[in-house]
Amino acid sequence: MRLPWRTLTLHTAPVRRTCSEPAAVSSFVPACSSTDGPSLELLQDFVSRSRRLFVITGAGLSTESGIPDYRSEGVGLYARTDRRPMQHAEFIRSAKSRQRYWARNFVGWPQFSSHQPNCAHRVLQRWEDSGRLHWLVTQNVDALHSKAGQKKLTELHGCTHRVMCLGCGGISAREDLQRKFEALNPSWRAQAGAVAPDGDVFIEDEQVLHFRVPSCNDCGGILKPDVTFFGDTVKKTTVHFVHDRLAESDAVLVVGSSLQVYSGYRFLLAASESKIPITILNIGTTRADHLAELKVIGRCGEVLSLLQRL
Ligand SMILES: [Zn+2]
Repeated sequence: MRLPWRTLTLHTAPVRRTCSEPAAVSSFVPACSSTDGPSLELLQDFVSRSRRLFVITGAGLSTESGIPDYRSEGVGLYARTDRRPMQHAEFIRSAKSRQRYWARNFVGWPQFSSHQPNCAHRVLQRWEDSGRLHWLVTQNVDALHSKAGQKKLTELHGCTHRVMCLGCGGISAREDLQRKFEALNPSWRAQAGAVAPDGDVFIEDEQVLHFRVPSCNDCGGILKPDVTFFGDTVKKTTVHFVHDRLAESDAVLVVGSSLQVYSGYRFLLAASESKIPITILNIGTTRADHLAELKVIGRCGEVLSLLQRL
């Protein structure tokens, strides 16, 4: 029987925290009291019953690694700044926009690329090792699941650690592009500001004017991060692949996503239509709360690390 999720999110006795991340990280994690014991037990039961678990993750997972999300109340980028992410059409049509994007990305890269997986990523990777996890879909572009060793993984919106040529479709490592930037811009300096979820940082336009951006070595085409910018769509082959993995699954767990973007939300609609039970672990409300049989309010790393112990 499907229970209304609101009845399962009562906050009673707080449980002890077991996942401690660096203090600086917490500035990007929304305020949240510890998850209550009954919710944890229900979540444990949900995960334990599954033999082919489908997990979908979002920015809420990476805030505990020090990467801010866009939408969290008070601490997300939308709340803290008036900056908005790069739009696909703008990147394609405007050389100046590309120059600004890459200049900021160049400055932010050393810090952005150094972020490490947190205990939530590690727990999900262990579920893969133990055979419980059937497939993991992430909306994040930060490579933290890969860094944790996750193999049964689809990066729905791509990954900032890869670069794609819009001319020949060639894929190269973002780290290699960093060395080309350095070679082309030996005396260019800029002070990095806050780093966005996609690795963007904030630099004044005057500083950007002299930044040189290389083209593809093979065809001279435009280089773009291998990520789906806002306004672009996820490849149909990727969507079909994920739908197939979902159809093979027996339960869906959402971890750290508000599911506001349709590219991820559509899989919750599909799961609901196929009567695949859904549980959501997130601090804030999500677009799919009404589809879930269980909603657990809490920090991803803290809650998932407690599950192992139950
Ligand atoms: Zn090319």
